[in-house]
Amino acid sequence: MPNALQTDMSESDIQAWLEETSPVVLDRLYAAANLTRQRHVGDEVHLRGLIEISNCCTRRCAYCGIAAHRTGLVRYRMSPEAILDCARRAAELGYGTVVLQAGEDPGITSALVLELIRRIGAETSLAITLSLGEREASELRDWRAAGADRYLLRFETSAPELLARIHPPPGDGRPARDRIALLRLLRELDYEVGSGVMIGIPGQTYAGLAHDIALFRELDLDMIGVGPFIPHPDTPLGRASGLFPLAATGQVPNTEEMTYKVVALARLVCPLANIPSTTALATLNKEQGRELGLSRGANIVMPNFTPPKYRALYEIYPDKACVNETAEQCSRCLRGRIASIGRHIGVGSGAAPNYTRRH
Ligand code: SAH
Repeated sequence: MPNALQTDMSESDIQAWLEETSPVVLDRLYAAANLTRQRHVGDEVHLRGLIEISNCCTRRCAYCGIAAHRTGLVRYRMSPEAILDCARRAAELGYGTVVLQAGEDPGITSALVLELIRRIGAETSLAITLSLGEREASELRDWRAAGADRYLLRFETSAPELLARIHPPPGDGRPARDRIALLRLLRELDYEVGSGVMIGIPGQTYAGLAHDIALFRELDLDMIGVGPFIPHPDTPLGRASGLFPLAATGQVPNTEEMTYKVVALARLVCPLANIPSTTALATLNKEQGRELGLSRGANIVMPNFTPPKYRALYEIYPDKACVNETAEQCSRCLRGRIASIGRHIGVGSGAAPNYTRRH
């Protein structure tokens, strides 16, 4: 049985926990993560209104259902007015934060993002999180200066050869950007910095995933989003093509249980971070996934505010949880789920204690 359950646990202890299968022993991990969550970030669950502002993308990520090679997919880019309407609704429903997410879309120009930041800032008191992929340093700097608060950029895996296979360079001659270097830059720019990985990508090993979790701690992340890899049948990784072999030694499964282990370990190594119970997790267990994530280390949920007519088109993976609900239905349902486990909705912008401690 692996022992250490503290913030400075070693990478080999992390790996041992990932490989643990006994439900009784895993309950110790989950209880420790829940206690750490309660002590460091409390019983509040903060809601983030997620607006998927464009599904246009120039990248060819092998896992992603909105990647450029999905030629059959109808593409959309929301107008500034439509995005502002969603942000206003989020503010009216009492949310503290909106997240603007998109594919890597040059049509989401720096000027457009600046306009959105300024107008959301002028009309609401919402904190603004951006998740727009690998953008130029100058853009990231300008957006922060204009009032963006947070940036989400998952590094997906820290194993270089696996990353190269699943997340190839843009293909227009530009080199691949080093996401880990970008995360360090975001921190220098004084964003609240979020990252994370997918769990169970073909080729991902236990040692590799343990290294990813130790890297969350080394990067001193403010936000950590992790979810199971969900194969999309119309992507290279979703087709059983043989191009993406399973790891010969110790392939990590893309299961619900493995996701809880990673959520719990992320909480233990980064006690002051904000950690969402993700939609990908809820997709694997629509009845209980959100609640179990919140009971095993998570303290955030991200209800979807994308207008229903675009929702299904932001199909990064199939059969996404909550895809047919309106923002209001989604909010009501999540409030009920949060109350059912004795937690309550956080008020205010819900900055990560890890970030506020730095200031
Ligand atoms: N273009 C942005 C946002 C991508 S979507 C960026 O690249 O950062 C947000 C996250 O969805 C990705 O970082 C990835 O971790 C996750 N994702 C994409 N495809 C997925 C799949 N098939 N299964 C599970 N998660 C997936």
